[in-house]
Amino acid sequence: MVNQARYLEIREELKKNDAVLVAVSKTKPVADIRALYELGQRDFGENYVQELLGKQQELPSDIHWHFIGHLQSNKVKYIIPFVHLIHGVDSLKLLLEINKQAGKQGRVVDVLIQVHIAQEETKFGFDETELQQLFQPGKLTELSHIKIRGLMGMASNTEDKTQVIKEFKRLKSLFDTCKSNVPGNDFTYLSMGMSSDYQEALAEGSNMVRIGSLIFGERNYN
Ligand SMILES: *Cc1c(COP(=O)(O)O)cnc(C)c1O
Repeated sequence: MVNQARYLEIREELKKNDAVLVAVSKTKPVADIRALYELGQRDFGENYVQELLGKQQELPSDIHWHFIGHLQSNKVKYIIPFVHLIHGVDSLKLLLEINKQAGKQGRVVDVLIQVHIAQEETKFGFDETELQQLFQPGKLTELSHIKIRGLMGMASNTEDKTQVIKEFKRLKSLFDTCKSNVPGNDFTYLSMGMSSDYQEALAEGSNMVRIGSLIFGERNYN
């Protein structure tokens, strides 16, 4: 069930910080998304392609759909027609595939590069060296069907706030470096922070947070 009071509180908090709220609706029913939509929410985040396609068909077309999960190359083509921002671009291969499919469908798609900042090996993303290579001058110029809008990262899943803050600081610093290497003004978003750590993320310079369970309640994967 949607926690409306909590949602409105978080929304105010984010407005003060000039940060975008992506309401993470994965596993949650269409009715819950509609309830938030009625309150004015337009940015929603989903992790699974099949689920996203179903919801997108049922819900209003002015919703901004953020794909925040691990995206398989062979599924890219399905979301290209409507996706607003792909957060989890975690390999050059995936980036090239998004560019290719967007070209075929006549779109320029906004993406964020996912950076591996957590201690866990299981979290996807570019490491620092790969990131440097990606943003070498000239490297991205031939990718005319994507726009890299910034970086995304997930901190370690730990109670240790010092560790989480350290990881956010590192991502912010990588963001600043990349930003200075990217020509133009499109590189603007730093997507970091979720229910458990969004306040720390905001304090470290996040301007886009992905919040699910605080708004929609705990997820049940059964
Ligand atoms: C599920 C998910 C979230 C939201 O998690 P909550 O803890 O429910 O806020 C944020 N980001 C990503 C990448 C996710 O997969």
